[in-house]
Amino acid sequence: MIGFGSRVFRFSEWLVDGDGSMRALLGGKGSGLAEMCRLKIPVPPGFTISTAVCNFWLEHGRLPAGVDEEIAAAVEWLEDCTGRKLGDPADPLLVSVRSGAAISMPGMMDTVLNVGLNEACCQGLARRSGSRRFALDSYRRLLQMFGEIVLQIPRARLDSLLPDQRSCAASALSEGILEPLVAELKRAIQFATGHPFPVVPRAQVAMAIEAVFRSWRCERARCYRRLHGIEETLGTAVTIQAMVFGNRGEKSGTGVGFTRHPSTGERLVFGEFLANAQGEDIVAGNTTPSPLDVLARTMPYVHRQLVAMAEQLETHYRDVQDFEFTVEEGRLFLLQTRAAKRSAVAAIRTAVEMANEKLISRDEAIGRITPRMLQEVLAPQLDVGDAEVQPLTQGLAASAGAACGQIALSSHEAVRMAEEGLSVILVTEETTADDIHGMAAAAGFLTSRGGATSHAAVVARGMGKCCITGAQAVVIDAQAATVRIGGATLRAGEWLSLEGNTGRAFEGKLPLRPADAQDPHLQTLLGWARQANGNSVRANADTPEDACRALAEGAAGIGLCRTEHMFFAPERLPHMRAMILAVSQEERLRELNELLPMQQTGFEEMFRIMSGRPVTIRLLDPPLHEFLPSRDELDGEITSARREEDWDLATTLEKMRERAAALGESNPMMGHRGCRLSITSPEILHMQVAAILQAALRVRDQGYTPEPEIMVPLVASEEEMSTLAGMIRKTAAEVFAREGTTLAYRIGSMIELPRAALVADAIAVHVDFLSFGTNDLTQMTYGFSRDDSRTYIDPYIERKILTADPFVTVDRKGVGALMELAIRSAKGVHPGVKIGVCGEHGGDPASIEYFYSIGVDYVSCSSSRLATAQLAAAQAARTRASAMQISHDRLPATEAHFANASRGTSLVPGAAPV
Ligand code: PEP
Ligand code: MG
Repeated sequence: MIGFGSRVFRFSEWLVDGDGSMRALLGGKGSGLAEMCRLKIPVPPGFTISTAVCNFWLEHGRLPAGVDEEIAAAVEWLEDCTGRKLGDPADPLLVSVRSGAAISMPGMMDTVLNVGLNEACCQGLARRSGSRRFALDSYRRLLQMFGEIVLQIPRARLDSLLPDQRSCAASALSEGILEPLVAELKRAIQFATGHPFPVVPRAQVAMAIEAVFRSWRCERARCYRRLHGIEETLGTAVTIQAMVFGNRGEKSGTGVGFTRHPSTGERLVFGEFLANAQGEDIVAGNTTPSPLDVLARTMPYVHRQLVAMAEQLETHYRDVQDFEFTVEEGRLFLLQTRAAKRSAVAAIRTAVEMANEKLISRDEAIGRITPRMLQEVLAPQLDVGDAEVQPLTQGLAASAGAACGQIALSSHEAVRMAEEGLSVILVTEETTADDIHGMAAAAGFLTSRGGATSHAAVVARGMGKCCITGAQAVVIDAQAATVRIGGATLRAGEWLSLEGNTGRAFEGKLPLRPADAQDPHLQTLLGWARQANGNSVRANADTPEDACRALAEGAAGIGLCRTEHMFFAPERLPHMRAMILAVSQEERLRELNELLPMQQTGFEEMFRIMSGRPVTIRLLDPPLHEFLPSRDELDGEITSARREEDWDLATTLEKMRERAAALGESNPMMGHRGCRLSITSPEILHMQVAAILQAALRVRDQGYTPEPEIMVPLVASEEEMSTLAGMIRKTAAEVFAREGTTLAYRIGSMIELPRAALVADAIAVHVDFLSFGTNDLTQMTYGFSRDDSRTYIDPYIERKILTADPFVTVDRKGVGALMELAIRSAKGVHPGVKIGVCGEHGGDPASIEYFYSIGVDYVSCSSSRLATAQLAAAQAARTRASAMQISHDRLPATEAHFANASRGTSLVPGAAPV
């Protein structure tokens, strides 16, 4: 008893066993054909053998019991449908035997067309079609495909028999050529296999089915699956379908189309058509097809029908489709439909336009865009062109974008060259806080050390500049003013091009192609993303320029302003140094009083730019010796001061060297920094808090709405936080008393030490918000240095000891466990406490998804990562909302009742909400 619909599935205009939801069993092609039949789209009838049968065959080398009979019955059914019989010399049925996996693997597996031809059937086909040339052309195609795919004869051997490989489209081969060609192909098959070409059509079908099963395991298909992470166990389905012929003359042809333009996303049916040809002619690329407009001119009725079907398919699938079609003597048939592969630009445009057309929801539009697509459209690109340019080296892709410039080997040189109007690439071992001016002057940075959260990487992202870190093949010779990169030695001043997205550095000046950030579709999508994530993505911005960029990118506020960067400006650094070197309290206060108005001006500008949005200003964090010149620099300056007999300067510099030596620490990352500085030098905290609040009062007087937040770094204990909160409040009270007014401000603590996470509840009662500094939290939890861990992180990843760089994607098991504990305990004692993340992970899509799932309220990241962070946060918010919906749906009846009641939803049908 034959039971169709479990291993063999038929499809025709009148009868369909499968449907579009059965991809896993019928493959993309088989399920698409079944669904198109259900939609009454003209499709040649046929049947699909399931992937389960393929897997059985691959395992046992034979078909499961009974499938042979089911195939035979399906062939009989197909003969009834078409009114033709396989092997009937008067009017033969010909079929295609086509592969089709659940996940599209374009061109990787095999297909055989025109199965069912032999000498007698070829004559019958000639008589029926009235064209011997067409019949011979179909036969030679079968011999070629069957020979290669089923009989495994090298393709080149059979192709070499063709008169001219570039002109083997159907229309190019005359009857006079085809006649002997068919005979030669048969001879070649006999010679290669020792057997004549199999003339029994049913045997041809059976052999072709097995060949398609076998093609699942061919090398190129395996390689494709490895690259795309497709499971080996899925198997392919096989579809046997009545042939329709695109090679029956000028009113016939074959083509492929897209329901929207796959590279621009424009809403038009786009595609190519090749008259008088079969499908493989397009794929083989032997002839150049014409645009679909040509079809509109030669067969306007077919073109109109095709456009209508494209619209029907897109509306049905609610996504851009890529379809294959054949026209046989003016009659249109669709042979395949699937979701179209598209460029990032096209993906954004089509998602936005489909949502505007109400074909999909805005949420679905957001869900269709990946962070990688955004990175691709936003970063300026190196225009490498068609030429294969080899990179000099590849480091860590620390900040996206591209830059070309002349090499500077120090910040000082970078500034000098930029002042001359040159585009500069700063190449150094690593950067530190006092390289900030050199970095501001350069177009991009290449460092030989450092990871994804090293100084260079963090600053580059904040500045929206391209940066490659940890490029170990970069060796700088400062004496000779040269840099060796891989095999090349370049002099300072020579051109270098960087590709931040891939971490590749190229010799010379490659052209750049700017990204179009103002693209209206992109802007619309990001607007929807901001709505969906509750406007919860802020920017890390240290200067008014950074704040302007962040605002332009749609930041909800500033989540981290690292104030130390403000002290490195040339007019501020001498006061900072004098303050550090001061021996008396009086001298120290005098220098701080010089710094206060300078800081205040910077904050005023930030508050004006971010009016109505929160601005989180972090109190001084780095150890003080970072503001002093290095010992080598001081030694050099002292020697030259002495040489010039400037004894006063020499004495000052010697004092500075002594102080720097006294402040020096063997482990500065765990040293006298962060909130420890505020406790031992309270006058610094006092100056900064006064500058923040005075700035806020000043801009409020000017009509702006400042929202200051004062954040304390590197807190480890409740005692530190309560002391510092007290000091901040006392200073605020003094400012307000002096100014005769008050202003709302918030106090927060960074959580960047494991101990702080463990006692977050005790800290939370003293603050309005907690912000995870995941850079230091990762460093301190793993005990991996943020700046020099590349030498073991990469080998760890290679050996699968780590799955990802924990400075790029948050470590959920360790750092995440601390965060979850901290959030739960802090919200337990202070439910209103806001939770943020301001480490670099705040811009990493995978980390963002996790943060929102554990109760983080907002993230903050460099402005260059704002777009991707907004998208990732919107997607995370969708996931969280649907998880909450599911858990609500699962509530027992009474709990659901009370949950609704407390939301103010009336439970009485028809009654107004309470
Ligand atoms: C952090 O540690 O995550 C942080 C934001 O602070 P910084 O990077 O300045 O140390
Ligand atoms: Mg930190």
